[in-house]
Amino acid sequence: MGQIIRRNIQELLPRADSIELIAQGPTSSGPFHPGTLNTLLTALLVMSQNSHTRLDVMLMDQDFSYQDNMSFVPVKYRENLSGRNLTDVAYEESVTALSEMSHFYGVDPSRITVTRFSDYVKGNNELVNIVNALLRSHEGRRHIKQTLVPNGKSSMIITPSCPECFTANTKPPTIKCKEYKFVDQAYEALVTGISQVLTLRAECNNEGCGLNDTRYYLPFNDLSMINFHYISTFVTDLDTNYPKFLEKTSGMGFSSKHPVGLHILGGDFDQSYGSDRTSKVERVKRFLTHDNSKLLSQSPAFYITPLFTFYGMKMSKSKGGTDLTLQRLREFYPYDSHGNNSGWVGRLDHLIFSNNNPVIEITEGNLFEDCLKY
Ligand SMILES: [Zn+2]
Repeated sequence: MGQIIRRNIQELLPRADSIELIAQGPTSSGPFHPGTLNTLLTALLVMSQNSHTRLDVMLMDQDFSYQDNMSFVPVKYRENLSGRNLTDVAYEESVTALSEMSHFYGVDPSRITVTRFSDYVKGNNELVNIVNALLRSHEGRRHIKQTLVPNGKSSMIITPSCPECFTANTKPPTIKCKEYKFVDQAYEALVTGISQVLTLRAECNNEGCGLNDTRYYLPFNDLSMINFHYISTFVTDLDTNYPKFLEKTSGMGFSSKHPVGLHILGGDFDQSYGSDRTSKVERVKRFLTHDNSKLLSQSPAFYITPLFTFYGMKMSKSKGGTDLTLQRLREFYPYDSHGNNSGWVGRLDHLIFSNNNPVIEITEGNLFEDCLKY
């Protein structure tokens, strides 16, 4: 484990036997498009090869669910929301899509769990403690800096949301607390309750907010007001697979959950960026498998799906391709659970798995060609 497999489904499927848990964290601040759906399809394909493999889908809704302005949501999608909360709509979309996919691939839907990140972190004290200990120790912060943000000015992996207007901040906060040299010391201080709670200091950058340009302090005991970067690929790992982390702390039981065996990530995770030109997946792998890491006893494998393009451009929520939605797919190719047709799932399956190209060009034509004939 610990490998990165790139865009070759034939290389991934023979490993299905060894994968107990697949984790995915889609960030859908817009409608589900073929790129998002493809990561889910890939998981279902692996599950169809191993009847024990489970899938945990965690919707990364943290940086949009609390915002009161919807300017980042595409206009057409905003109309579809008709007053409903974006996180609820994304949840409904995932549940519907996964249910129809599991029928198509003959996978028992009870093997799939969908969670909103904002719900998951509420009252998750173990996770609060782990992240706290990482951030308040020199050792933990050095580890984050060396592996995730080696040349960045800040080693922070989190940004808070403003307590007044709930806008997600774009600038990293300053940490105010007693700092420890080692992660274990910080962790022990937290579990024994001796030390003060870690506090984040930030300024709201929403011009319409009463706290604009004014410092605010946020106690780090509730993760629901914190946005994580890289979260989808490692927070679930921290939560399910950290016996090494607890080894030295007395009286703490080991987690009984299965460690994540596989993360399935979109093609953009493989694009290099930053001054060291390292991709996001390489950074996360480094973070989780670093020699000195006290975090995991077993590191997961990463599968990078093909990059989806729309007329040559990367498909994303802000650019082209936002018309190619799950909603439209389901309208044009309704899935029939009686097996009379393969519906939209069969359509996508054919588009994605009938070739092994690293880039899959999606157009109105190849996605909706049948209906365009009418
Ligand atoms: Zn504010």
